Amino acid sequence: MAVRRASAPLDDRSLYAEYPFLPGAEALLEGESVSVRALLEETAYSGARALGRTRIRAAAENPRGTRDLEELSRADPGVRFLSFLFARLVLSAAPVPTTLRRWAVAEAKRGYGRLAAGEREELAEVARRLGYSLATTDGGLAFPLVDYVRLATPIREAEFRLPRQELARGFVRVSPVRAARLLQEAVRLTLAVPVPLADDVVALVRERERELLDEVALRLPLPVARAGGAGGPLLADRFPPCIRKMQRTLQHGENLSHAGRFCLAAFLHRAGADAETIVDAYRGAPDFDESITRYQVEHISQRDHGRGYEPPECDTLRSHGLCARDGDLTASAPVDRARDERCFQESLRHPLQYYRNRGGTVVERGEGPAAEVRDRAGSPDRPDGRGRTRSTGPR
Ligand code: SF4
Repeated sequence: MAVRRASAPLDDRSLYAEYPFLPGAEALLEGESVSVRALLEETAYSGARALGRTRIRAAAENPRGTRDLEELSRADPGVRFLSFLFARLVLSAAPVPTTLRRWAVAEAKRGYGRLAAGEREELAEVARRLGYSLATTDGGLAFPLVDYVRLATPIREAEFRLPRQELARGFVRVSPVRAARLLQEAVRLTLAVPVPLADDVVALVRERERELLDEVALRLPLPVARAGGAGGPLLADRFPPCIRKMQRTLQHGENLSHAGRFCLAAFLHRAGADAETIVDAYRGAPDFDESITRYQVEHISQRDHGRGYEPPECDTLRSHGLCARDGDLTASAPVDRARDERCFQESLRHPLQYYRNRGGTVVERGEGPAAEVRDRAGSPDRPDGRGRTRSTGPR
């Protein structure tokens, strides 16, 4: 995307126009006498709404590939700004928080294009408004160590690791381009938090944008299997009721017990999910913290040369109130509300066994050089007991 390099410091208004994700951008609506209801309903803003829906759809489809949107580059700056606010408003009211988080990734990536072209003072100002310190130094920029660690932890590129950084008096020196990448993380974290909305506004958004919200919820991708890993394709619709309920709980922004969180990560890993998919499953948690989640997922999945911890067996899950074989009356899909007869078979002892019985592939060995393949046929029901699962709760 061609971006303009700022040649002079931006005034407040231009700053928000260039960086609509900055806290306080909504206040400009009031300055323009545009109420939230007007943005949602009035004909005058239909162009902004259409563009906002395009932003939402593109992010739901592929948050990592939406930096360039032709419609955005053609749009009038005012419409572009309003389309951003509209999209944020709609997704803040969405019943599935994952849609907002995916959109946050896409918009943060788009924001990077502008940030990477910004002058040092401009980057420092953006950082300040996002709640981070970024000092301008002779010929460079520097984050305080604590801010650097917070922003760099979710970044996987090796050059962002702390041991490779130049540290001086509690500050980490960064180039402007690297500062822009770190601020991209700050934007993502900011946008992933829903804008607080009154109940009547949430109801209005859900009513007016129901079709869009249903559509993007359906576009959310299925979990992804590890590339080159020992698992087969992930069959999320064959997961047992307990696991599906744990996923719904987190998607709805509700709390899941420690035992449930552990079980979900261990199950997904053994089903062959990649680390991103497992971390994504927790994004809806009210206390979600990316770096802590990544650390815990790594801990659970790296055990036993990559085989990972064993999820708890059914008896243990029942004792924790996590079994859902009788059906979940709070679920919207009939299949989730219904009792699952497969879970009442006497031989069923483990969620992985349920998944395997329904055609899912379970990783039975580590994935190091000496590790071997999956075990599709190794059902615990087999007479030779291959693939029999052990009970191992959180340790
Ligand atoms: S019986 Fe086992 S697999 Fe089925 S819902 Fe309960 S804990 Fe999960």
